[in-house]
Amino acid sequence: MSAVSFAPAWPPDLATARAVRLRRVRLPRWLLGPGWPSRNGTPAFADLVVVNGHVASLQPSDGPGRHVVWTTGDDHDLDGMLALPGLVEAHAHLDKTLTLDRLGETEPGLLGAIAAMMHDRAGWTPEDVRARAGTALTWAWEAGVTRLRTHCDWWEPDTVPLAWHVLGELADEWRPRLRMDRAALMPLTFFAERGEAHRLAQGLARLDPTAKLGAFIHTSRWDPLAMRHLVQAAADAGLGLDLHIDEELDPAAAGLATLAGLLRETAFAGPVMCGHACALSAQHADVALATLDAVARTAITLVTLPATNLLLQDARTGHTPRQRGLTLVKEARERGIPVLIGSDNVQDPFCAVGDYDPLQALGTGVLAAQLPAAFDVWSEAICRHDWLDPGAPMPLAVGAPADLVLFPHARPHGFPARTHGRVVLRGGRLASPHSS
Ligand SMILES: [Zn+2]
Repeated sequence: MSAVSFAPAWPPDLATARAVRLRRVRLPRWLLGPGWPSRNGTPAFADLVVVNGHVASLQPSDGPGRHVVWTTGDDHDLDGMLALPGLVEAHAHLDKTLTLDRLGETEPGLLGAIAAMMHDRAGWTPEDVRARAGTALTWAWEAGVTRLRTHCDWWEPDTVPLAWHVLGELADEWRPRLRMDRAALMPLTFFAERGEAHRLAQGLARLDPTAKLGAFIHTSRWDPLAMRHLVQAAADAGLGLDLHIDEELDPAAAGLATLAGLLRETAFAGPVMCGHACALSAQHADVALATLDAVARTAITLVTLPATNLLLQDARTGHTPRQRGLTLVKEARERGIPVLIGSDNVQDPFCAVGDYDPLQALGTGVLAAQLPAAFDVWSEAICRHDWLDPGAPMPLAVGAPADLVLFPHARPHGFPARTHGRVVLRGGRLASPHSS
């Protein structure tokens, strides 16, 4: 397996004008396509050539070019080292993050967490939000994240939240390194009146046309007419949707099924991100699979949040949880529905753990959903930028930035075990560990 020392220079600087070749890199099967040579399902190693921080070619190591004599000297034999492209954190809450240490005891479950958060946010200042969210972005960046979406709670229809502005400033400051956008997380009740729904969506579009319109869709405040207004308002304002939907185990939850119907009826082109959809796991299989069949005919991407689902679903004091709470990720992928895995809440009352490392979210998903082939198959769920941003190029396509996360100590089996000590290259340049 991989060597632990390299000569003459490790990690390599791929941002130079000279061509640099990384030989015998082990990339995941999903990235390489059906024509890539493989043996017993294991893809052949790859030779990756980078010029000026961008991918110049990606070829099988034992392909026709294997005997080409490389004369530049910038040639690194990685001996099967695992590598992934730049990582995606598709679902975060940077406004609420890293508040756990000051909250004291909180009630278990989703509603208890909401109550604790309401109490804490009364004391938020721009400096407080900036410090906490900035720490989160640093952690994500060091983990290898190049694209992150954060939700931002929006409690008063006519008051732009303090955190919204701070997160916008941080998005601008971080743009060269990591692209962040925002989704406004509003109560569904805001959309009960058609005119008000349109006014809200138009206002958000004027504030930030790249923002996503979001809402919390739950049986406790279920209103199918408001849902219809929400979809129509987003379509008319040219906004994408990013919804917290059916984050519960009540089989009566109908948010996702209703949304799929509305998207078809209104020919809403997307993008549409649906977080959680836990209720599918509590519904009769015929009902849940019919909903997934409908979702497969829309532009919906599902994002599953294993850590918060495990911690918040089936949560009662003194009770060992029986249900896992995850949505039906395997059945969704079987139907061609894009499924991302995200961190969600990190060290706040909703989730006491987490660190914005998508590999940790993937590892939790492997355990919670019994995901096979984490490296070759399911790492796709933390790398597919185009599932978050439709039209984005496939990672490591020729001409794309050389955003790479190298794992000198990891193996395909057991992944994401031993992903510590990773090397993050952004546009070919070393991002982490710091070169000081
Ligand atoms: Zn969330």
